[in-house]
Amino acid sequence: MSKVTIIGGGIIGLFTAYYLSEEGFDVTVLDKGNLTNSCSIGNAGMIVPSHIVPLASPGIIGKGLKWMLSSTSPFYIHPRLDRRLVQWCLLFYKSATKKHVEYSIPYLKNLSFYSKSLYLQLAEQHKGADLGLEEKGLLMLYKTEEAAHEEIEFAELANHHGVEAQVLSKEEVHQLEPYAGMDVLGGVFFPGDAHLHPSKLNDFLIRELEGKGVKIVREATVLDFDISGKKVEAVITDKGDYSSDYVVIAAGTWSGEVAQKLKITMPMLGGKGYSFMVNNTPAIQRPAILTEARVAVTPFGNQVRFGGTMEITNDNDKINLNRVKGIHNAASKYYGNFQCDFPQKQDVWSGLRPCSPDGLPYIGFTERWSNVLFGTGHSMMGISLAPATGKLLTELLMNRKAQVQLDAFSPDRYS
Ligand SMILES: Cc1cc2nc3c(=O)[nH]c(=O)nc-3n(C[C@H](O)[C@H](O)[C@H](O)COP(=O)(O)OP(=O)(O)OC[C@H]3O[C@@H](n4cnc5c(N)ncnc54)[C@H](O)[C@@H]3O)c2cc1C
Repeated sequence: MSKVTIIGGGIIGLFTAYYLSEEGFDVTVLDKGNLTNSCSIGNAGMIVPSHIVPLASPGIIGKGLKWMLSSTSPFYIHPRLDRRLVQWCLLFYKSATKKHVEYSIPYLKNLSFYSKSLYLQLAEQHKGADLGLEEKGLLMLYKTEEAAHEEIEFAELANHHGVEAQVLSKEEVHQLEPYAGMDVLGGVFFPGDAHLHPSKLNDFLIRELEGKGVKIVREATVLDFDISGKKVEAVITDKGDYSSDYVVIAAGTWSGEVAQKLKITMPMLGGKGYSFMVNNTPAIQRPAILTEARVAVTPFGNQVRFGGTMEITNDNDKINLNRVKGIHNAASKYYGNFQCDFPQKQDVWSGLRPCSPDGLPYIGFTERWSNVLFGTGHSMMGISLAPATGKLLTELLMNRKAQVQLDAFSPDRYS
């Protein structure tokens, strides 16, 4: 069977390795880290077929500019004279239109529904595995009339596209969340959404892959490629060269830099987010997004994770405690009975979401090279969409018809 080298052992790389190895491919995963520090570990773990609208959408620019003025707000761009940043912002601005949203919805919806079905299949096949997968839906909670208007409008759009959304009064929110002292105006409930424990999923996939003989090479940084004609012959790392029939690039936020070495223009920036875990008392029952604060809340049994912020930067080293404060403050504002200590700096996790400027992933073969594929750019939905991307890349490598239309996700759309 063909040999495949996957660059990146985040959730997309791992799911791609999983489906390829199921089909008998000889797979090697290379990662510059140790597979415990990617963006795929401390995120909110939500599986969100409800998210059919890309980040680049009307209204986001105005909101973003307002948020830029506050140090605790959920969005920030580190202003700097950087050609890549300027190019990304211009492309984002061009994509933030109603037309782009209408174009993107069917693509994102089909990818998301397919991905959720693959999660359910995975859980069915591995009944003993503890992935923390629960189908409890998602609550979009709001406190203000302005946010209520936006969320109800979005609920109508979702229902119109076949994604069930229920508009709830304050009392109805209380029934779903009876212990936390909800201080909200109301909410929208998406019963089709689900969540899981991202680091349990990560550990499960690594165990499965290593058990099946997939080679996982940690702390190997990809530096360049050995090329002959239209073909990549080998991946060059600081730990030696890896030759294979195919190369899959799933390097998260860094995929743009890797693509550049292959003369492919793939605009990508990091959308930095933070999260922390605290005891879940009084128990929050269901995953939620606190819409005005853009904070994601995911209960994992006796613990609950709060996560949020989107700082456009490629620096994942520094923890900005002001942004963490914004997340922490939101908790007690929405959950009146919920008090938690401000986390210690060392207990705050951060990760870089791989953000394309049009809010759509990059999935599939590049036309530039005969044996290179990409699976990246999943932004806020990397966990949600990872099984679909891994399975679709496997189908492409097997010359099978993909289950989902992929043209909107072309890795060459900016080249
Ligand atoms: C606060 C927060 C909350 C989130 N919540 C959710 C959620 O609820 N649901 C959801 O679906 N998504 C969520 N996300 C987004 C999700 O975490 C990401 O989209 C996803 O983890 C990206 O996965 P990836 O495999 O593309 O990239 P990564 O996980 O970043 O993996 C890329 C890997 O490539 C490796 N790599 C990079 N360059 C090289 C190189 N040159 N050589 C070798 N290896 C290399 C890196 O070391 C890394 O391990 C959230 C993100 C954040 C920050």
